[in-house]
Amino acid sequence: MGSGQVTDWQGKNVTVAGLGVSGVPAARVLHGLGAHVTVVNDGDDDRARAQAAELEALGVTVRLGDGATLPEGTELIVTAPGWQPDKPLFAAAERAGVPVWGDVELAWRLRGPDAAPWLAVTGTNGKTTTVQMLASILTAAGLRTAAVGNIGVSLLEAVLGDEPYDVLAVELSSYQLHWAPSVRAHSAVVLNLAPDHLDWHGSMEAYAADKGRVYEGNRVACVYNAADKATEDLVRAADVEEGCRAIGFTLGTPGPSQLGVVDGILVDRAFVENRQKNAQELAEVSDVVPPAPHNIANALAAAALARAFGVPPQAVRDGLRAFTPDAHRIAHVADVDGVAYVDDSKATNTHAAQASLAAYESIVWIAGGLAKGAAFDELVASSARRLRGVVLMGADRALIREALARHAPEVPVVDLDRTDTGAMLQAVQEAKRLAGPGDTVLLAPACASMDMFANYNRRGDAFAQAVRELGA
Ligand code: ADP
Repeated sequence: MGSGQVTDWQGKNVTVAGLGVSGVPAARVLHGLGAHVTVVNDGDDDRARAQAAELEALGVTVRLGDGATLPEGTELIVTAPGWQPDKPLFAAAERAGVPVWGDVELAWRLRGPDAAPWLAVTGTNGKTTTVQMLASILTAAGLRTAAVGNIGVSLLEAVLGDEPYDVLAVELSSYQLHWAPSVRAHSAVVLNLAPDHLDWHGSMEAYAADKGRVYEGNRVACVYNAADKATEDLVRAADVEEGCRAIGFTLGTPGPSQLGVVDGILVDRAFVENRQKNAQELAEVSDVVPPAPHNIANALAAAALARAFGVPPQAVRDGLRAFTPDAHRIAHVADVDGVAYVDDSKATNTHAAQASLAAYESIVWIAGGLAKGAAFDELVASSARRLRGVVLMGADRALIREALARHAPEVPVVDLDRTDTGAMLQAVQEAKRLAGPGDTVLLAPACASMDMFANYNRRGDAFAQAVRELGA
């Protein structure tokens, strides 16, 4: 299928791997274009059957309970991004010389000739926040845009819909990048790189390499995190268009070709004339909500992409001021008796929790859940001096308890041995007991939530509800 636009789908045999958020729309679109579509799916539950029935009514073939066999005559596989590369289906595809695209690759190939360029964001943490800040800045500049990709609005919809966009702010996960070999962004950023999803990628090297794909073929700027050398290494390794620049962001004073912070001001020394001598003021740190260090880094990354696209400084400030963070990301829930209660339920890995713990001076930390193979020593050791107390809950809490015993033996720890719906209320009550005026009670679990809650949203909701009951 080459690497360019595919315009003639009539009669092409396409296998869509996986029903679900990306598979169903992909099957519909490809069928609509005239392809012969077969959907293969591992599961065979009620939901899959209902989705299958809908597609079959259109004339799409669906095979439930068999995601391993490559249907005869397949010319292309379009896979759900989450499907692991070591699946037998992909080995069969490789043997048969059949290309495999993810949902993002499909969207890229179906773009029209005058399609909006992509400003792409990836990284271990901060992706959603950064694309939303970016979209807000672009909007403030009067551009028609949307935050799309791994965050709700599907790329396929954005690319094929009637809305005429000037530019898209695209969030890409490492899975999506793995399956998107020919995507070429106008400019892109890797925000940071810490071990995550290694079971899927197989190794840290493979994970980094997939993240690094976001820089391939960039035209204007490859934006990296000056405090995270791995991101700069990825820029160096990338094959970019002639003239594309490497632009760093830093929480310190920026050097030439960097954005950074000077005396509480976000400044640009990259997209200015005579960058050896000049710097352009963009916004104040207090324009960033919440003004936690990692979030200022996100704002600088968003600003760098927007500036690469030619957005004026004023729009950066206006866009940052207009931005409201999504729920459960360092959300201030309430102050009760001089103690602040903060919900960062979205801190589902240690790297995210580390950023959140670094944002407060004296903390009662509520943590625990599913560790996904993580180790907690570094997190606990680097945060120990800020901890006034800790409340642990969830399946893997013993791992955190042991790390606390090693690195913060004086810090009082309450270990909750219950997983029922009342557990969060008790956790918050225990945290209140440990906290004093000026402290922050911070839910930043460093773990996934599924052992006790449907997802991180429900966990954060339970926390907020418990805080409201405290104050009542
Ligand atoms: P993602 O889309 O990558 O999961 P989000 O913007 O939803 O990122 O933020 C997820 C969590 O990661 C936040 O709740 C916060 O704890 C943490 N976080 C956000 N930005 C950063 C960053 N730049 N570095 C480290 N952690 C961050």
